[in-house]
Amino acid sequence: MPYTLEPAYDDNPRLQELVDRLRTYLTDELIPFERAHGITAESELDRPTLEHVWKRSAELGFYGISLPPELGGQGLSLTELCALKEELTASGAALSHSVLGDMGGPLRVGAIVQYATEHQLDRYLMPVIRGERACCFSITEQDAGSDVRRMSTTATPDGDAYILNGHKVYSSAAPFADFAIVVARMAGTEEAYSAFLVDLDTPGCRVLDGEVPMSGQRMEGDLVFEDCRIPAKNLLGEIGQGLRIGIGRITLNRLLHCPSLIGAARRAWDLSVAYSKSRVAFGQPLLALQAIQHKLADMATDLYAARSMVMATAARADRGENIAVEANMCKLFTSEACFRVADQAVQIHGKAGLTRGHEVEQIFRTLRMFRIVTGTTEIHKNAIVKALV
Ligand SMILES: Cc1cc2nc3c(=O)[nH]c(=O)nc-3n(C[C@H](O)[C@H](O)[C@H](O)COP(=O)(O)OP(=O)(O)OC[C@H]3O[C@@H](n4cnc5c(N)ncnc54)[C@H](O)[C@@H]3O)c2cc1C
Repeated sequence: MPYTLEPAYDDNPRLQELVDRLRTYLTDELIPFERAHGITAESELDRPTLEHVWKRSAELGFYGISLPPELGGQGLSLTELCALKEELTASGAALSHSVLGDMGGPLRVGAIVQYATEHQLDRYLMPVIRGERACCFSITEQDAGSDVRRMSTTATPDGDAYILNGHKVYSSAAPFADFAIVVARMAGTEEAYSAFLVDLDTPGCRVLDGEVPMSGQRMEGDLVFEDCRIPAKNLLGEIGQGLRIGIGRITLNRLLHCPSLIGAARRAWDLSVAYSKSRVAFGQPLLALQAIQHKLADMATDLYAARSMVMATAARADRGENIAVEANMCKLFTSEACFRVADQAVQIHGKAGLTRGHEVEQIFRTLRMFRIVTGTTEIHKNAIVKALV
């Protein structure tokens, strides 16, 4: 089978069927829904709109599909999950982040399920998996980003509760979440951090509008805790496990962000091919120019390289291998390569690609962020060398 940028999964009929159904849902239902409601990547999203997508995606079996069957999913392998995630962003659908549950849903909960007690599963995690509740994950603070140990949010034991004080920033999905997974320092300790499930309507907890990142998406919020009393049964895992829970989740997420970036870059490729066929300059389509052909060749090669390493790493994780180093390599390479693709796409589009609101311009801004978000390029390099040398 010759190489195409739109992948086919002939060796896995179940996956091919899922990918076909997902493409149909995105193009025949979700994108027309967005158009009918004027929803773009930069729209402020309300809860009813999101719930509509969660419920419909759940009906179709996509929401939480990667979870094991006992949690209502289909036990997808990571390789299969990566294939579906790439399709989401490759479609260009603005709400694609809500189909599998990346934004506030089952994918945000992810591996945390393994630490949950029965009470936590019943009250918090299962309702997220069913699309009834949404959650955010909050570790970053204004003065604690890459260096999370600088966090100043504290948890103070008080009888059968913990009292939270502090201020978290840039929590994705916070504006429409019901609860947060919050990592805080145990008061009076230097290095003990714990994770808590915090209902966002608890007295002493406020959700503020967050900064709007350069992608223009309005999905981030700040959480402020002022003597916020959390029942002891909301401690996730054990005292002192907070960073392990948080960073363990981040390692897998570093890999799982990659197919989303590849899909967005693939969308930029599709738009660039179409544009270079239709745009005429000096009496011929742009595509006739070797300079443009070479850009497309570079873009396709970056996409092939990124997808190959991500799928190989996902396959290793599916075999139970430790992918801590490879996940950093994948996120490092993919975020840089996909940004190069987006940059070439802007170049091919000329002034159209520089125009505020053009899809290629939006993809460029979004992909720029991922050289920082979920681990900066420099932090990935530190981790790779630390592990190997
Ligand atoms: C859109 C968006 C969504 C986000 N969502 C969430 C979320 O849901 N939950 C959450 O908790 N956080 C979230 N974040 C926060 C994000 O994970 C952090 O921005 C990221 O970890 C980097 O931290 P920082 O921005 O404070 O940069 P800093 O850590 O201040 O880094 C600044 C620069 O210094 C470099 N640097 C720092 N330390 C080193 C070092 N040791 N060696 C080499 N270079 C170094 C960095 O690479 C970077 O170039 C989000 C951020 C954004 C923009």
